[in-house]
Amino acid sequence: MGEFGYIGWLRGQTPPDPRIPIGPGDDAAGVAFRPGRMPLVTSDLLMDGRHFILADAGPRAVARKAMAVNLSDIAAMAGEPIAAILSVALPASGGRALAEELYRGFREVADEFGTALAGGDTNTWDGPLVICVTLLGEAGEYGPVRRSGARAGDWLMVTGPLGGSILGKHLEVIPRIREAQQLRRFVELHAMIDLSDGLAGDLRHICAESHCGAVLEAQAIPINRAAIHLSERDGRSPLEHALTDGEDFELLFAVSPVDGQRLLDDQPIAGVTLSKVGECAEGEGLWLDDQHRRVALAVTGYEHDLSDDHESS
Ligand code: ADP
Ligand code: MG
Repeated sequence: MGEFGYIGWLRGQTPPDPRIPIGPGDDAAGVAFRPGRMPLVTSDLLMDGRHFILADAGPRAVARKAMAVNLSDIAAMAGEPIAAILSVALPASGGRALAEELYRGFREVADEFGTALAGGDTNTWDGPLVICVTLLGEAGEYGPVRRSGARAGDWLMVTGPLGGSILGKHLEVIPRIREAQQLRRFVELHAMIDLSDGLAGDLRHICAESHCGAVLEAQAIPINRAAIHLSERDGRSPLEHALTDGEDFELLFAVSPVDGQRLLDDQPIAGVTLSKVGECAEGEGLWLDDQHRRVALAVTGYEHDLSDDHESS
């Protein structure tokens, strides 16, 4: 497959965009960031056999996911996407059809979220597909939301039910770009992260960066139906799936109790149900309140720790 032929085709499919005065076709792209906005950059590399199975998912879904996981990171900063850099190592066996399907998947999600294509890199080899999307964005008018601003007493909230994404949701990632921007307008977001590694794991990042602990409320954690299906298969509880399964790509954020209560009462974000899952606490450590018992969630995982039966209340 001719790489230059593909790049020519791809340029023909890519509409001009005022935010990208120099698009694909030159040695580097030119980007018109708005004055006063902090530029944001994020990148994710996905490999066949490690992050997806090309033969199962197909190239279109893979490209959609590669784009969506990057958008999710921009959402977690309450940012707006501007343009993507799309780099691929194409398996020679896939031919031109594979390359074109990848572009189509990319295009669908890019169009859905108003993201231009600034450029990329195209290579062909005898190895499996590797796709890397780098996304350029801008912080919203109030600046970026970081992992570091949570404080003891803050409410911890999520944008949707958790767990069981392996049954399908992980390939149909819905980046919470619009939801994050709406939230930012209604309340002051102290800290935020997108849930790629599971609630318990990602909450640890907020705690570490914010120098606080956290207590999760077992009964309050919204559980995805898929987590219940998985639980019937593997015997691990739905709650455990909700706490530890990766790739939910919902947002986890910290707000003041007053703002949190307002969000719960008003539910101002169309299409999502906001839930309170716990609170930030003084000191260090991650805890789970489960029917009047408080158990520590060790870094090694939920199961291990419950069997250790730490009790503090
Ligand atoms: P160079 O050799 O100068 O790095 P390339 O031949 O790699 O240039 O790329 C030529 C142009 O095509 C560049 O502007 C690059 O951004 C663009 N391009 C290459 N591959 C892709 C791709 N997969 N998606 C979007 N743009 C691409
Ligand atoms: Mg060059």
